[in-house]
Amino acid sequence: MDNSYLLLATLPLVSAILGVTFLFLWRRHRQSVHLLNWSLMYACAVLGSSIGVARLFLENSAPFSFTANALLVGVAFFAVRGATLRHAGRSGDAIMVPIYLATIVGGVWFGFVEPSVIGRGTVSSVGAAAMFLIAAGTVWKARDLDRVDQLVVLTFVLTAATLIGRLVVSYLHEGPIQSEAEVMGSFWSVSLRVFSTLSWFAMAVLFLLQATKDLMKDLAAQSLTDPLTGVYNRRGFFAVAERLMRDTTPAAPAALLICDIDHFKGVNDTFGHRVGDTVIQGLAEVMQEAAKDLDCTIGRLGGEEFVAFLPATNFGQGRAIAEDICKSFTMRLHVGIPPPHIITVSIGVTGTSGDESLDAVIERADRALYRAKGEGRNRVAGAALPFPADDLPRAATTRRQPTDSKIAGRR
Ligand code: GH3
Ligand code: MG
Ligand code: MG
Repeated sequence: MDNSYLLLATLPLVSAILGVTFLFLWRRHRQSVHLLNWSLMYACAVLGSSIGVARLFLENSAPFSFTANALLVGVAFFAVRGATLRHAGRSGDAIMVPIYLATIVGGVWFGFVEPSVIGRGTVSSVGAAAMFLIAAGTVWKARDLDRVDQLVVLTFVLTAATLIGRLVVSYLHEGPIQSEAEVMGSFWSVSLRVFSTLSWFAMAVLFLLQATKDLMKDLAAQSLTDPLTGVYNRRGFFAVAERLMRDTTPAAPAALLICDIDHFKGVNDTFGHRVGDTVIQGLAEVMQEAAKDLDCTIGRLGGEEFVAFLPATNFGQGRAIAEDICKSFTMRLHVGIPPPHIITVSIGVTGTSGDESLDAVIERADRALYRAKGEGRNRVAGAALPFPADDLPRAATTRRQPTDSKIAGRR
């Protein structure tokens, strides 16, 4: 007995494994909706290829052929939808859905109104090829394409070419297929399975590579980000600011600010750690707001201490931004801190022309901050360049509002 028909089960089975793999990946990274689309792509592949096989053994196979075709175009639809979402951040439905619907209408027409195997197959293949070509164009136009992304574009183009090429070769090779009975074993049918296998698995490998790359990129970003505030953590800040320092020159100086919340221990002790956390988040927001027009890099050095690197900013401009932060933070209302309590911040500012290490700049700003604390808090202290680190200008602090208790009260 010839059991070679069992080979036909390979395509649905492997597609099922891929569909489940993408589904699990999506469940762990729900914001990556393209993974769900690729899972649906392989779900369509399972159903489409299973029904496609089943219809070969059925009497009235027209409804099954129609359904199989619709699902196989669904494979193309979800493959390109996922790729468009990942690369362009949009679904592309405005173009793809009408194309999909056109293949369905064509399928109904050539399946039931004017039955034609070749007509139905042509409509599906041309529709799917159009989807792949449009998506290839969209992905190609996206920024920062790497080798894997370029291979995705190539795979889409080759898939479109084989879908059309298969039609032509099949027509020239065996003429128009007249009935469903002729489908089994025809070049028309076997070539579809061979090309689908190659194209679906090439896409699976590339999509999995893309998902792995995205995951690694996410992990790298997480290792550089402070989870409480979303700004860089110490490591992330140093990685970026050290790069920016290299571009800093006397003609293009930079400013660096270190901000430390005053009497923060008292905030925690009086209002609780959770409220303390929202105050920390508040300072990060105030800093981001104050420097929003500058290409500024903000990091949380630890606890309630933040640093900001402001490229293309001289010492005077940096100082003005620090004053702005100090004022805005004092005026900010924090959830869980009832009036008349106010929370204040002290800031050390310095400038750099880049001819020194980032550590040296931070140390200078830190000493200015220490001075701001010593002189009463809730103020900005500056340490301009150039001067030796142990000779900070004494008159360079700007006093705001005296804070003589651990939690300052509005008078
Ligand atoms: P100063 O005005 O001199 O800066 O005094 P301070 O109380 O702000 O400074 P100190 O360094 O003594 O206290 C910092 C506190 O910040 C101690 C620590 O418990 C708290 N802290 C550190 N990290 C966190 C955090 O993530 N959340 C909260 N709520 N508190 C934190
Ligand atoms: Mg503090
Ligand atoms: Mg501190």
